[in-house]
Amino acid sequence: MDELEQIKREIGLCSRCNLSRTRKFPVPGEGNPDAKVMLIGLGPGYQENQQGKPFVGPAGKFLNELLELAGLMREDVYITNVVKCYLPDNQPTPAQIDACSPYLDRQIEILKPETIIPLGNVATTYILRRFKIMPETIGRVHGKSIRHSNLQMQPEIIPMYHPASALYNPGMREILRADWENLKGIQSY
Ligand code: SF4
Repeated sequence: MDELEQIKREIGLCSRCNLSRTRKFPVPGEGNPDAKVMLIGLGPGYQENQQGKPFVGPAGKFLNELLELAGLMREDVYITNVVKCYLPDNQPTPAQIDACSPYLDRQIEILKPETIIPLGNVATTYILRRFKIMPETIGRVHGKSIRHSNLQMQPEIIPMYHPASALYNPGMREILRADWENLKGIQSY
């Protein structure tokens, strides 16, 4: 069994935090194991919990459109979340993030992506801190390429607004579309 599969198996059995009690299926992540581009969302919503797959609801449909604007397909990238079990209110506690993030850290170490795209504030804060970069709000850094100036061999980080933020907000939809269009030409494998 490869290491990504091993992590999925561990997540399937995990009870490190209270979200294990309310999940139907854990959502460990999926995609191309050779992907150079990794997308990281917040955590599974209702549809994701029903299917055990990331970004399969309305936000996932919009994410597919955004990927296409960048010239990417779902199967080109690897998609996961900071928290792997159903978040009924979309607000993980610090304890839940602490309990679950070691899985994400291991996924990053295995995939060694060249580009990480955190989606939304929680994922952006987590990823910037992980790579020892001062956290910024998504409103200040969305669509920007960020690297720690003193650390070689670390991924480029390009935070984006979460696709769900645009579902009922046409203005946000256009900002997201423009940010993703700017990625056109990015290679994922
Ligand atoms: S959210 Fe993460 S830490 Fe909590 S039970 Fe699920 S896999 Fe385990």
